[in-house]
Amino acid sequence: MCYEERAAPKIESPDDVIVKLKAAGLEDSDTCLRRERAGEKSRSPDILGADGAGIVIAVGSKVESFKLGDAVCLYPCLGCGQCELCTTDREFMCAHVSGIGAYATFVRAPARNCFAIPAGLSFEQAAAFPTAYLTAWRMLVTNAELKPGQWVLIADIGSSVTTAALQLAQYLGTRVIVTSHSEENLAKAKEIGAEHGILCANTDFAKEVRLRTGKRGADVVIDSIGGDGWVESLASLRRGGRLVTCGATTGAQPKTNLQRVFWNNLKIFGSIFGSRHEFHQVLNFLKVSRSKPVIDKIMPLTELSKAQQRLKKGNQFGKIVLQMDHQTKTL
Ligand SMILES: [Zn+2]
Repeated sequence: MCYEERAAPKIESPDDVIVKLKAAGLEDSDTCLRRERAGEKSRSPDILGADGAGIVIAVGSKVESFKLGDAVCLYPCLGCGQCELCTTDREFMCAHVSGIGAYATFVRAPARNCFAIPAGLSFEQAAAFPTAYLTAWRMLVTNAELKPGQWVLIADIGSSVTTAALQLAQYLGTRVIVTSHSEENLAKAKEIGAEHGILCANTDFAKEVRLRTGKRGADVVIDSIGGDGWVESLASLRRGGRLVTCGATTGAQPKTNLQRVFWNNLKIFGSIFGSRHEFHQVLNFLKVSRSKPVIDKIMPLTELSKAQQRLKKGNQFGKIVLQMDHQTKTL
């Protein structure tokens, strides 16, 4: 990984837009893992970053929805645009999907990836929400079909996806329990709506969840950690409960008690990113709720290594955002 000078991207297709980026969201380790696991060939393999926001500085001849000077945020996934998945709004599942390449001062993207920034959001906030909120929306609304009054357990609160899930769950009128190894993160989670916080080392929280829910168990569990915590996540569910996995930061091959799964009629979903339709729903949610994504820290793009070290430590709460201003280099 290195910084280097590049020629600014140019319009190559009539549907292209060039965006001068103002901010990019640092990818969580779970979304990075996805790329590694799939071993996919990215369309822009040498420029990382899926989340970005900035100003339109050039448009292709067929672009009618945006003009120079428009402030836009970017739908984070870029597929081949031609396969069965891409043509049915499942570009995020495309075999050739990559991030938009947002760790840069300029990015070329198809106009279909550009969206007006919701009113009231700064460039930093607009770069902080796309992947986190898209993933959280698909997990909670599309897959888990979360309903008001239900109990949600969010394991290991702190990453941008889990803090987005907490904000969404809270807005949907549910009761939220979070776990963390950090008392500080538990306190921050309670400030934005968590009803209970369980201090743990990612394990042995199932009994506590039973206790806090009057022996009922959680209707929905959001698990981004895997490892030994996976066993506890499954054990935290009530009969007919739904578990959504969106990461495996502590291990990708945990033990699973299948008898618990079928006897309790549990549903397990794998979920990361989401469709453009879901991205529209997220934009609408941000507009109506006036929610702002949780930002852990804003750092200059040149401090990317330092930012990644902070992410690796796992003590963050919310999204780490990179600022491009006064930068002239790309990664
Ligand atoms: Zn495709």
